Amino acid sequence: MNKVNYSKELDKIMDALKKEGRTPTLLLQCCCAPCSSACLERLRECFKVTVFYYNPNISERAEYEKRKAEEKRLIEAYNRQVDEQDFAGMHSTAAANRIEILDCDYDGQAYEEAVKGYESCPEGGDRCTRCFALRLGKTAETAKENGFDYFSTTLTISPLKNADKLNAIGQEMQERYGVAFLPSDFKKKDGYKRSIELSKEFDLYRQNYCGCKYSKGESFHKENVTEL
Ligand code: SF4
Repeated sequence: MNKVNYSKELDKIMDALKKEGRTPTLLLQCCCAPCSSACLERLRECFKVTVFYYNPNISERAEYEKRKAEEKRLIEAYNRQVDEQDFAGMHSTAAANRIEILDCDYDGQAYEEAVKGYESCPEGGDRCTRCFALRLGKTAETAKENGFDYFSTTLTISPLKNADKLNAIGQEMQERYGVAFLPSDFKKKDGYKRSIELSKEFDLYRQNYCGCKYSKGESFHKENVTEL
């Protein structure tokens, strides 16, 4: 079976929207500002994006709040660019839309229940599958409740996360909740590289672990790989 190129799938949808002159609403689950930076730069050209900060996986309240504050700072900077029509150094056009944020309460209990029995799985295994399903399921449910046209996630920008798995879960949630999932593989087309450039440009806090307490000691993170 041919492997699906989810980055091209997204391009096709965005090209069609541009031709039709439509700007649908998108509820985008964002894990942190560095990951969001390149995704939002691309998506705001075609969608009215609302960032959904739903990350009960992040261990320790202080870390959760720190990442959220950086997310908000990035959104404010992007919205200033739109208001002032000043896109110097950005891959953006006058078509770029303002971005909103839908904040969530910290709910570490939901994450612990979702991964119960899978805590010791290595990063990329069944613990992460359950973590993805929790976050994408909540995003789809919220998108449906609030009448969004699409839902999606920034998680596919990380080279450490399996885009096939994330897109399969997104499609499963699309069926379950009856709202369209926007496919992606944001790491492609130099998306990951762009997120590093934008993180430097906006001086964003870049954590060196994924989020849960179990990921703090994972071997590849010990080598100072920056999680995005
Ligand atoms: S390593 Fe990341 S994706 Fe995997 S369970 Fe922990 S927070 Fe979730």
